Amino acid sequence: MQIGAHVRAGKGLVPALAHGAEIGAEVVQIFTQSPRTWKPSQYGPDVLDAYREAQDQHPSVHRTFCHATYLINLASPDPELAAKSRACLDANLATAAGMGADGLVLHIGSHRGSGFDQAVPAVVDGLLGALDSVSGVAHACPILLENAAGAGDTVGRSFEELAEVIAAAGGDERLGVCLDTQHLWASGVPFGTVGEADAVVEALRSTVSLERLRCLHLNDSKVPFGANRDRHANIGEGTIGVDGLANLLGRVALQSVPAILEVPGDGDGPRAEDVAAARRTWELGVGRAARPGGGDVDEGSSAPDGTRPSDRTVPDARNG
Ligand SMILES: [Zn+2]
Ligand SMILES: [Zn+2]
Repeated sequence: MQIGAHVRAGKGLVPALAHGAEIGAEVVQIFTQSPRTWKPSQYGPDVLDAYREAQDQHPSVHRTFCHATYLINLASPDPELAAKSRACLDANLATAAGMGADGLVLHIGSHRGSGFDQAVPAVVDGLLGALDSVSGVAHACPILLENAAGAGDTVGRSFEELAEVIAAAGGDERLGVCLDTQHLWASGVPFGTVGEADAVVEALRSTVSLERLRCLHLNDSKVPFGANRDRHANIGEGTIGVDGLANLLGRVALQSVPAILEVPGDGDGPRAEDVAAARRTWELGVGRAARPGGGDVDEGSSAPDGTRPSDRTVPDARNG
């Protein structure tokens, strides 16, 4: 399994690769533009071309994913916000495609009480509109719908909801899924035991399909199981813990899917020691899975009571 990390893009985008390499990441994730403002990307075509070339030739960072602006809300019942969101998504996707990214990770948004079924047509419109807007670009880039932690009427809080959105989009091949371990835990899906982690894989298989799963966001949780809040903690410092994360990372069906850290580190994002911790956690999971019985001994608790919280502050920009 390739281990990756969310890194800062820097002025010219290309420094992101060096930062990824420095901390031992084989995959990097980058914001296509400022994550919390509507300000469009400042990257011109020459910068995008230079990034793609640098990525192609990089000795240790093999792939790039992009993360879309947090303000985008394709499910918004407010027409002005909905229009702004669609334009912003188009711009994000154009940058991601120009960079040659393997996917643009997107939080679908919140229907603000208008209801999931009501919101789906607008969501689908926004997704297909964006995908069509870059159809002339040589480097196609899928949109990867991220599972939500479940706060405030968010769309995509379960695999079923993600599958419904994809089905409503006609099962478009340019749509994939990103599975965030912290959001999964906070949305109330347990994987503290090997059996539960297996059930997660089966649930993915029977809803969005494993082919659509293009990346994992590997994060521990600052909030308890089922808390419905998006708060990332460093690996082993949260309420999921190394055991639960190892169970998921050890599943055979997930080995070709990269796992990207979005952890706070010591306040400035993933560090070398966070990447090393992720790799150790993966090794633990794979070793356990290789044991007779799939490692069904020494299982962790499936629903911890929220002790062992990390006292670190998650920077807003990495709450993805
Ligand atoms: Zn995210
Ligand atoms: Zn995430």
